[in-house]
Amino acid sequence: MPTYELPDLPYEPSALEPHISGQIMELHHDKHHAAYVKGANATLEKLDTARADGDFGNINQLQKDLAFHLSGHALHSLFWTNMAPDRGGKPEGELAAAIDESFGSFEGLRGQLTAATAGVQGSGWGALSWDYLGERLVVEQIFDHQGNHGQSTTPLLLIDIWEHAFYLQYLNDKAAWIDAFWNIADWVTTAERFADRKS
Ligand code: FE
Repeated sequence: MPTYELPDLPYEPSALEPHISGQIMELHHDKHHAAYVKGANATLEKLDTARADGDFGNINQLQKDLAFHLSGHALHSLFWTNMAPDRGGKPEGELAAAIDESFGSFEGLRGQLTAATAGVQGSGWGALSWDYLGERLVVEQIFDHQGNHGQSTTPLLLIDIWEHAFYLQYLNDKAAWIDAFWNIADWVTTAERFADRKS
């Protein structure tokens, strides 16, 4: 059975400076994301053992751990690729048209996603997601890594608003981190993901 692996960052940890520091990126990838990968693999092993032993006494915790770690791995893997140096700006083409249709304008999306991300209570993420049921884009607040999103949605663009994502640089100023994020949001990879997910 394949196990989960930590993907490399697609750029140097310092490549997104000054918007997000190399120190944050290094810790975030090498420690936090790595822990979710390790946690997902460890939980699968514990589930193997539980099945082999016929002992499901800890099943609720194991299922919760699986959702948390696997989602943490999935979200961070996407997050690294939805940022890039010298990006920002606005989406183009089909993605831009879909944003206009779903949010009225790019500014409508930006306003809602900024507010939703800043408003997350506790740890979580802001997400621009594709909803295959409604065939439209939606903004979502994700709680922790696995909560509060529609089961018909898949994320296209993510903003990590866990404190580990910004605190060393921005302290408690979530708004400053989100403002900085818009300078490194990669609409090229996001448009590729959009084309892939809606097909
Ligand atoms: Fe994170």
